[in-house]
Amino acid sequence: MNKQLIDFITQNYNNSLLTPRIIQSSQSAWFKIDNKKVLNLCSSHYLGLAVNDQLKKAAISTIKTWGLGTGYRTLAGTNSLNIELEEKIAKFKKAEKAVVFPSGYLANMAAIQTIFGKDDIVISDELNHASIIDAVRLSGIKNKYIYRHRDMKHLEDILTIIARNPAERGTKQSLPKILIVTDGVFSMDGDLAPLPEIIKLAKKYGAITMVDDAHGEGVMGEGQGTAAHLGVRGKIDIEVGTLSKAFSVIGGFITGKKELIDFYKQKARQFMFTSAMTAPDTAALLEAVKILQKSDNLVNKLWQNTRLLKSSLKAAGFDIGESESPITPIMLGDEDLAVRFAAELFKQGVFATSIRFPMVPRGKARIRMIPSASHSKADLEFAIRKIIKIGKKL
Ligand code: PMP
Repeated sequence: MNKQLIDFITQNYNNSLLTPRIIQSSQSAWFKIDNKKVLNLCSSHYLGLAVNDQLKKAAISTIKTWGLGTGYRTLAGTNSLNIELEEKIAKFKKAEKAVVFPSGYLANMAAIQTIFGKDDIVISDELNHASIIDAVRLSGIKNKYIYRHRDMKHLEDILTIIARNPAERGTKQSLPKILIVTDGVFSMDGDLAPLPEIIKLAKKYGAITMVDDAHGEGVMGEGQGTAAHLGVRGKIDIEVGTLSKAFSVIGGFITGKKELIDFYKQKARQFMFTSAMTAPDTAALLEAVKILQKSDNLVNKLWQNTRLLKSSLKAAGFDIGESESPITPIMLGDEDLAVRFAAELFKQGVFATSIRFPMVPRGKARIRMIPSASHSKADLEFAIRKIIKIGKKL
């Protein structure tokens, strides 16, 4: 290997970072890890669809008829399964149109890079997901502002500064676009973006709104996302979602007005220069959307489980933060304590990982738990008993 490359790796490799555990089974309510059965309390397959028979059957039968890869979606034609999935997602979200990508990460890249360039302005919540930060970097936007987490007063202060500064605001001919971007559900804390207030401020100052609702799709607003939950469906300019969490397969999407989605399909580099999801992925996703469209059962079960986990932990005296979604952190603060807590949990048969810097700020270490619709009441009661026991011990 090149000497400079070896030096670079040696100097930057971090031995203290934990390597992920190897899962030897499907993504069910229980996992097999190190040949040991443990309760899965940390995957974001909120609805248990990764092991749903309807999805599995659709994937298997689609492999038989359509094979595997569907290729590029531009030069060599686009597969009708992908088109059907876009139509079904748009219908489910009650949006004019949707476009799908091979991942949520790519959907965020496309959402920002295709529309915003170096002369534009972005204002981003300080706890936004890494893929938003990367998308802003990729777009080359020079004027970047970060507002304090969910702090609408701070967001308005920034908008006022921009409005007052004609140099920043550009000339009338080439007015820079202003993007306000936020996660819908914040992935480490589980709290929600104040979307109605963001929309109000965006209107007042002529800004464009974007939400990355990776953890809200299939979970909030009867599964239709955080905007639907907060009563502002269709009022966000650019809505991004993932198909790898509640939908439990792989992929991401953008929904919005017809003109916007047609523009992405024509111009997004993440649409043009990479291949599409495979045929079985797409077929399984079509079933996932069908299940969600047909009934609220899974979403209701997820919320029933969420309420049980949260109320029991609260009653036992744990600090579970300000989450308004199934994401349930146990706030511990100390990084070592969080690592020891997760290790003890694992020993006792519960898999929930510690979240530390750089995923959350220093001093805000926690165990992040995510219940799913596939957990039984007994599963969660088992976890709660173990958590309380370890809490007392540590
Ligand atoms: N946004 C958020 C808030 C996420 O949590 C994630 C996944 N961790 C993504 C985007 C990326 O989604 P995907 O895994 O589908 O690429």
